Amino acid sequence: MPIATTTENAYELALQNFDTAADAMGLDNDVRMMIKYPERVLTVSVPVRLDDGHIHRFEAYRVQHSSVRGPGKGGIRYHPQVTLEEVKALATWMTWKCAVVNIPFGGAKGGVTCDPKHLSLHELERITRRYTSAILPLIGPEQDIPAPDVYTNSQTMAWIMDTYSMTKGYSVPGVVTGKPLSLGGSLGRNEATGRGCFYTIQCACDHLGLPLTGSSVVVQGFGNAGSIAAQLLEEAGARVIAVSDSTGCIYNPKGINIKELMHLKALTGKVEGFPESEPITPAELLALDCDILVPAALENTVTADNAPMVRAKIVAEAANGPLTPAADRILESKGTFIIPDILCNAGGVTVSYFEWVQDESHLFWEAQDVYNRLERVMRTAFNDVLQIHLARKLPTRIAANVVGIGRVAEAVQIRGIYP
Ligand code: NAD
Repeated sequence: MPIATTTENAYELALQNFDTAADAMGLDNDVRMMIKYPERVLTVSVPVRLDDGHIHRFEAYRVQHSSVRGPGKGGIRYHPQVTLEEVKALATWMTWKCAVVNIPFGGAKGGVTCDPKHLSLHELERITRRYTSAILPLIGPEQDIPAPDVYTNSQTMAWIMDTYSMTKGYSVPGVVTGKPLSLGGSLGRNEATGRGCFYTIQCACDHLGLPLTGSSVVVQGFGNAGSIAAQLLEEAGARVIAVSDSTGCIYNPKGINIKELMHLKALTGKVEGFPESEPITPAELLALDCDILVPAALENTVTADNAPMVRAKIVAEAANGPLTPAADRILESKGTFIIPDILCNAGGVTVSYFEWVQDESHLFWEAQDVYNRLERVMRTAFNDVLQIHLARKLPTRIAANVVGIGRVAEAVQIRGIYP
């Protein structure tokens, strides 16, 4: 789903996307009113003693967009630009994403407006624990299950789980996902987003009759999602010809050795300087002649300005919102096959669901079980979206929204409404 740069626009855009898909489905107005808006919006004050002895008040949020199909699910973001509007947009987005992959969760999201780069580990722990206390009435394994998002990680989840468990008097691992393995995390969660993205690319290649073996790939953003997708694509016989991160872009038309690049990135934090590659600019990277482009960094990477230069046949949105709405229209008109973010990167929340299932059943799966189940979920979701795309001649992004919104709409109608 495209997401705008300004936070106000992000929520407006989420509502616009909803309307476009709802119009395409001819969705009844009463049903729209029941599922379009967040069910609960909580703003809390988080007063925390900083290391210098002073108290600072942080503003924080938890939004539950939908509980129609199950507990709320969505990450917690720590970022200076977190606003309520942004959190509402992200929560809305999670509802349709969970429904596209047909997992029994609704959408939720949380955020603390803070700058983690200027906070110590102890300060982050105090913020997390105080924030958890503030949102405690809303969260729980049957109610709303947070996960990591931008600048939060498995350590943050461990603190949330501990704070929540202290109030209960016993351990409740199912209250969060993305936990360390030693606290009930799932094997395969770390690579789930890149792996899910890879499965959807395989499906898209099959659909287009494009052999993955020998195809050329460009990956923008060599972080968790991008590097795993690149590694799996390389293992499947594709040639990853260019890769970038926030520090630079590298290019080798013969193919970059991804395992070695991961090693360099782990050592130096950069992709720049990789042997047998030449530096190129970000603009050149996006304009490379390739079969598959994987934007895996931030929002608004492909815009009206650079979309005309994109030559990839498939754009696989590992990142959330990497295409602006204008870029979307340009690529659609060129016939580019877009794997929309709410489908392409849904592997992360899918394995979060697996983690919750394992926690609740106290029975843990082997990595291969996780991969097999993830592959089934992603392939089924891809085919569901493809069917709508082909049958109704809708852009893939709208088709994905139609699938997600359709499932929530069906559920709300079957449940009915309390008079
Ligand atoms: P990450 O922090 O591990 O990686 C992000 C990468 O992008 C880093 O390598 C960074 O250097 C690079 N980057 C930043 N700015 C860039 C720029 N201007 N040009 C090129 N590279 C740039 O984050 P991640 O978890 O891989 O998330 C990436 C995207 O995937 C985000 O949009 C995130 O919302 C989305 N996503 C991630 C998950 C997940 O489980 N990790 C799940 C769903 C969606």
